[in-house]
Amino acid sequence: MKAIVIGGGIGGLTTAIALEKSGIDVEVYERASRLTAVGAGLTLWANAINVFKALDMSDALLKLGCFEGRGVIRTAKGDILTAARINGKQGTSAIESIIVHRADLHELLLNQFHGNVHLGSEFKRCTQSASGITAHFADGTSVECDVLIAADGIHSAVRQQIITQAKPIYAGYTAYRAVVPFDHARVGDVWGESWGHGSRFGLAPLSDNRVYWFATQNTPDGQRHTSNEDTKAHLQEIFADWHHPIKQVIEETRASDILHHDIYEISPLDTWIHGRVVLLGDAAHAMTPNLGQGACQAIEDAYTLAYCLAATTDIDSALQTYQTLRMPRANAILRQSHQIGVVGQLENMLLCGVRNQVFRYLPDGIRDRSLNAVVNYSLEKVLEGALPALQSNGSASEK
Ligand SMILES: Cc1cc2nc3c(=O)[nH]c(=O)nc-3n(C[C@H](O)[C@H](O)[C@H](O)COP(=O)(O)OP(=O)(O)OC[C@H]3O[C@@H](n4cnc5c(N)ncnc54)[C@H](O)[C@@H]3O)c2cc1C
Repeated sequence: MKAIVIGGGIGGLTTAIALEKSGIDVEVYERASRLTAVGAGLTLWANAINVFKALDMSDALLKLGCFEGRGVIRTAKGDILTAARINGKQGTSAIESIIVHRADLHELLLNQFHGNVHLGSEFKRCTQSASGITAHFADGTSVECDVLIAADGIHSAVRQQIITQAKPIYAGYTAYRAVVPFDHARVGDVWGESWGHGSRFGLAPLSDNRVYWFATQNTPDGQRHTSNEDTKAHLQEIFADWHHPIKQVIEETRASDILHHDIYEISPLDTWIHGRVVLLGDAAHAMTPNLGQGACQAIEDAYTLAYCLAATTDIDSALQTYQTLRMPRANAILRQSHQIGVVGQLENMLLCGVRNQVFRYLPDGIRDRSLNAVVNYSLEKVLEGALPALQSNGSASEK
């Protein structure tokens, strides 16, 4: 079987590694002509860390990451609304999670994949026939394969060809992010997220005494400042009265290091498959970042798809099983993440007051059950359960 992956982001490279480890011939086609260090911090929860354990990559991964002691939500003044126990140690009752720089994770994935990553290869369209698929690229080249995996992100060109009605939808708020050298001792234990009226601010520890921060604000989409300095001044104004050390962290960030992206998502899809073309990661279920699960879900997809393709010679049945196992969970998390964004971005003072009281008095058990359902997920068990059916489909198709 020959597989090609369109897109060399987190989802695409994890898929390529998982396929390669399963002995499947795979190559990656990436639009960018060179791979530069992009992005900021990324939270990887237990569900993603477990995949890297299964791929024998967890030692290298955990070296990149920093652990956060508690998952705290505060008010803009710094009062705690809720605090879940989170750390990176195995075998504790706490929820496992690490914060990595996206660029460090990307580099690790690139080093772990030994096959070809074709840069400057922008997918344009594909054609399918009984003998396989041909993918055509913007530079006029083409390649043949048995299965085409679309990991080309929220604006997926592959998805646009196979499911024309799925379009990214603006969530109503914009996000600013940056990484800044900032002594962790100066943050104390004020890691976590703080909620105001129509805006939020988050602080997370990164290795080498760096801090990853993000801020959100309700705005019309496409609104931009005239310069990086204006963006920074705008943030200093919005967060001027927020609790320590938000003001200092923004002040010490170089204006040119601030990333600004409007937040988009797609409506849950009812299919990810078209013949032997299959969607994965943001191409399949781009979600708002409120649960820190977009990349984690792409990583779960990657392992599941490779497992299904390796377990049977019947490619169609492998793709169907992948979709059956992954779609309900990814779509449910997409919806849940959307809801958290609605609540977190409330502007009305009265509604914000009610929201804060609900979070303040939310029993720990209810909060942890809901978080656990997302992050403490045993993918291995789910896959083991699907194996007999996959294998019997494979032998039926060979007869
Ligand atoms: C503000 C913000 C914060 C976030 N925080 C978190 C977090 O804490 N935890 C988490 O798990 N997730 C988080 N996410 C989500 C996460 O970044 C994405 O879900 C994840 O990167 C998706 O990976 P992907 O590989 O599917 O897509 P992408 O990372 O978008 O990769 C797609 C790749 O495809 C390439 N490509 C695109 N078009 C083509 C084409 N036509 N031909 C060839 N190649 C193409 C692109 O160049 C890119 O390399 C956050 C997102 C945002 C916006």
